[in-house]
Amino acid sequence: RPIIVWFRDDQRLADNPALSHAVSSGCPVVCVYVYDAEPRHGRSLGAAARWWLHESLRELDRALRSLGGSLVLLSGAERETIEAFASAVEAVEVCWNRRYSAAQRQTDASIKSALEAKGVLVSTFNGHLLREPWKVTTREGQPFQVFGAYWRAARLGFSPEPPQPAPDGLPFYSLPERARTLAVDLIDLKLQPHAPDWAAGLRETWTCGENGAQQQLQHFLAHVLDGYAASRDAPAHDGTSKLSPYLRFGNISVRQIWYAALATAQSESIPGEHLHRFQDELGWREFSYHLLFHFPPLHEVNFRRQFDAMPWRHDAQALRAWQRGKTGYPVVDAGMRELWRTGWMHNRARMVVASFLIKHLLIDWREGESWFWDTLVDADEANNPAGWQWVAGSGADAAPYFRIFNPVLQGQKFDARGDYVRRWVPELSRLPDVSIHAPWLAAPAQLEAASVRLGETYPFPVVDHPQARMRALAAFDALRGGA
Ligand code: FAD
Repeated sequence: RPIIVWFRDDQRLADNPALSHAVSSGCPVVCVYVYDAEPRHGRSLGAAARWWLHESLRELDRALRSLGGSLVLLSGAERETIEAFASAVEAVEVCWNRRYSAAQRQTDASIKSALEAKGVLVSTFNGHLLREPWKVTTREGQPFQVFGAYWRAARLGFSPEPPQPAPDGLPFYSLPERARTLAVDLIDLKLQPHAPDWAAGLRETWTCGENGAQQQLQHFLAHVLDGYAASRDAPAHDGTSKLSPYLRFGNISVRQIWYAALATAQSESIPGEHLHRFQDELGWREFSYHLLFHFPPLHEVNFRRQFDAMPWRHDAQALRAWQRGKTGYPVVDAGMRELWRTGWMHNRARMVVASFLIKHLLIDWREGESWFWDTLVDADEANNPAGWQWVAGSGADAAPYFRIFNPVLQGQKFDARGDYVRRWVPELSRLPDVSIHAPWLAAPAQLEAASVRLGETYPFPVVDHPQARMRALAAFDALRGGA
C-alpha cells in the first residue's frame, strides 16, 4: 500500500521533508496536488499566482518523472478530494508540509482527523519556515509583536536544520484504475489566462519551478549578495534576490537559501553587513508567518483595532488610476506598471505605492492588498497583508501612520537618475533628471523638448501632495481623538 505525498506550497524535490519521509519509508510513493479554485475557507489564488502555479506544477511533474514518478493532479474541495483519493489507492499514510493561516490549519486538522479515523497515518513536517511560529515566544509564553525582539529570540541558540538533497529515485507505483479516474490534466485546471493573454510580461521575466529557483539563487550569490545592504533600496538596480515567488510556492526552501548565502559569504569573504541584512529580510518573512499564525485573519482585520474607525474614502476613479499606474506621480506609476508587467515589484516601490494609496488617496489598505493579491506572482498569505498593515500603521511593529512618504523625494532619493521611471514610464523618458520625478514643475520648454504634454501624454497628479498630506494627518488625528 502506498504513501501519499500531498504537495502544496512546497513544489520542489530537494529539502522537502514530506517527500524525504515518504521515500525513506520504502513504500510506493504517490505524489499529488489538489487544486481548489474556490476554497470554503481561506483565499482563492489571484490571477498572477495561478499563472505561476501552472508553470510550477508542470516543472514539478517533469522533475518527478525524472525520478521515475509523476504528479497526480486532483481538483475540488481539499478534504473530500484527499479522502477519496486516499481510499482509491488504499493509502497507508498521507504526509505533507505544514501551512499556517487559520483557514489552512483548520482544513488540515479536519483532514488529519478524518484520515486517522479511517486508519490512515498522517505525518506533517516543517518545509516552509526556519522556525515554527509556536516555538518562538516571549518569556511569558506569548507571541511577539515587535520584530527586533522576535528575531533575537528566534535566533538565540538556534541553527536551522541543514537542507536535505533530493531523493535519487522514487519507488515505482502504478495507479489503480479507480484512482486514475479521479486525476485531471493540468490544462483542465484553467490556471492560465486566455482571451486576453496578459501573461507575456510574466513569461519574459520568470523561469518558474525548482530549476528556475536554483538559477536565480546562483545569480544572487554571484552578483548581488556582495553589496546587498546598499543596493537593496534602489529599485532600478538588480540589487535584491527576486526569490520571493519561489519561496511563496516552495520551489526553494528558506533553509536552502540560508545555508547557500552563509557558504558564499564565507568562501567569498563578503562583509557581514550584507549577509546580515539579507538574513534580516528572511527574518521579516518568519515574523509575518508568526503574526499570521497567532493573530486574526491578517488580510481582513486591523492588527491595531483603533484603525477600524479610520474614515477611508471610496474613490473608484482614484483607485483605478493607482492600479493602472496613472496617478501622475512618476515613481508610483513606475512601481504599479512594473507590477502589472512582471508580477513583481521592488520592495522600496511597494512601500511607496502602498503609502500613496493609503495616505495620499486615503483608500483602505485592504483595497491595495487585494490588488497585490491578484497581480503579484509572490502574493503571500503572510507577507502581503503584513506588508500592507506595516505601511498603514495598523500592523504589529508598523511604521507610524503620520510618517507619510513624499513620492517626489522618495523618487529623487532612491532613483536619483530616474532610471526606474524611464524604464516603466517611457512617455517621460526624455525628461531631464531634475524634473523626471515632478514633471508638473518642469519648464514648458523642457516638457516640449521631451514631447510631454501633461494631461494628454501623462496625467497631472491625481492629488496635490501638501493637501493630501494634511488630509491624511487630519484623518489620523480624528482617529486618535476617537480612540
Ligand atoms: P529580498 O530583498 O531578496 O529578500 C529575500 C526574501 O526575504 C524575500 O524573497 C522575502 O521572502 C523576504 N522578505 C524581504 N522583505 C520582506 C518583508 N518586508 N516582509 C516579509 N518578507 C520579506 N513579500 C512577499 O513575498 N509576498 C508579498 O505578497 C508581499 N507583499 C508586500 C506588500 C507590501 C505593501 C510591502 C511593503 C511588502 C511586501 N512584501 C511581500 C515584502 C517584500 O517587498 C518582498 O518580499 C520583496 O520585495 C521580494 O523581493 P526579493 O525576493 O528580491 O527580496
